[in-house]
Amino acid sequence: ALFDYAPAPESRDIANLRPSYRPFIDGEFVDGGGDPLKTVNPATGEVLAEVGTVAPSDLDNAVKAARRAFEKTWGPMPGAERAKYLFRIARLLQERSRELAVLETLDNGKPIRESRDADLRGVAAHFFYHAGWADKLDYAGFGPDPKPIGVAGQIIPWNFPLLMLAWKIAPALATGNTVVLKPAETTPLTALVFAEICQQAELPHGVVNILPGAGDVGAQIVRHPGVDKIAFTGSTEVGKLIQRQVAGTSKRLTLELGGKAANIVFDDAPLDQAVEGVVNGIFFNQGHVCCAGSRLLVQESIVDELMDKLRRRVGTLRLGDPLDKNTDIGAINSAEQLAKIRELTESGEAEGAVRWTSPCPMPERGFFFAPTVFSDVQPSMRIAREEIFGPVLSVLTFRTPDEAVAKANNTPYGLSAGIWTEKGSRILAVAGKLRAGVVWANTFNRFDPAAPFGGYQESGFGREGGRTGLEAYLNV
Ligand code: NAD
Repeated sequence: ALFDYAPAPESRDIANLRPSYRPFIDGEFVDGGGDPLKTVNPATGEVLAEVGTVAPSDLDNAVKAARRAFEKTWGPMPGAERAKYLFRIARLLQERSRELAVLETLDNGKPIRESRDADLRGVAAHFFYHAGWADKLDYAGFGPDPKPIGVAGQIIPWNFPLLMLAWKIAPALATGNTVVLKPAETTPLTALVFAEICQQAELPHGVVNILPGAGDVGAQIVRHPGVDKIAFTGSTEVGKLIQRQVAGTSKRLTLELGGKAANIVFDDAPLDQAVEGVVNGIFFNQGHVCCAGSRLLVQESIVDELMDKLRRRVGTLRLGDPLDKNTDIGAINSAEQLAKIRELTESGEAEGAVRWTSPCPMPERGFFFAPTVFSDVQPSMRIAREEIFGPVLSVLTFRTPDEAVAKANNTPYGLSAGIWTEKGSRILAVAGKLRAGVVWANTFNRFDPAAPFGGYQESGFGREGGRTGLEAYLNV
């Protein structure tokens, strides 16, 4: 662990109202003209904080500030200077990581162990990694003197609020672009503390602008004529809407959308290790993960043994207070998401799949959903086709490697996949045939800022991370 602590009781006060729970435009926190939104602690259902939002005139101001910064300060700045700011931001994120981890857990519902060891660690790593690129772009094979695009409009979801911000802002800044970013309406708080960090780092005004608001603010960013590039992470449905809106303009676009990943276990796999990977693949972050291994494909000869081990292991997962560092499964982010998960699991039962629910004790309040495993799932069922985005696993079987590949590829998505086998040759053969942006072998949900991440088909296009991720922010 990066650090080890139990959150102090007063840590719940971290979310108390502070001046920064307002739009951040041109280096200052301002009173936005939009209706304030209330963010809820999903573990209790209580209001956590009230946050100011933006009106269209605030968005105009933010885009103008971002343009000024792009033309006058950030765009012309030598890469080595930009790198200093990014390193400074990375260090401040580390220094404030305890506060940020607690706030993320309060606002999102994810277990504190995950905010601390996965989210915050990844956030800092992303800034350090991209700080390292800022002064090396001339030598990165893009050709001489690659140029930033301009003002980037960035829209992010609620499942990894600060980590998705890092994935968006770090490469944009490293390459000399400026940013207007909208966090998700249910999880705006850590993005606003990030704005405080931009002030602490004395980042030139206008380089980063944070605009809290609902989907309409996202749509206004997409339509704004002063925005040169859109980077969106969220649902496939909204991604397609954005694609239509951008059509006919010269805006650049990258989309990171939904998924329905296959996690394939062959009969020669080390089963205990595979079970850990399957559990991590679907129950990490309550299954609110775009690349979650939500379809388990098991070779028929081992299905009984694997299901036995799986149910026993899932039965040990502790569900409850996300601030308790022993908690494995936290809260579902919102009442809407909980309703969506319930609706889809009911469809699974109605369509004839066999449902098993972990007998774990359930909290009396808040939005929680017990880990659920469906067996006897048919490829035509909704729970095999649609993204549930919750702690629900659908299990299908296969006989041959070719059948495994065919079933894994039987989806409109294509973000990630997993393979569990002792045979290296099989890993290479199967991975080569899977239509997915990431294929993990004998592991799952592993991330590195140096590895490009992104989808095939309806999981979107463009890559984030690595040298490839920089291309989305450069004219070469
Ligand atoms: P969502 O599409 O509902 O919302 C995402 C963001 O878009 C939010 O900030 C929202 O306010 C904004 N938005 C809503 N309507 C808009 C519009 N018309 N124009 C512009 N912006 C609009 O998605 P969500 O429920 O917040 O997130 C869950 C989805 O995100 C899942 O489908 C998940 O798979 C996907 N996701 C993908 C990745 C990836 O890297 N591929 C990563 C995380 C999440």
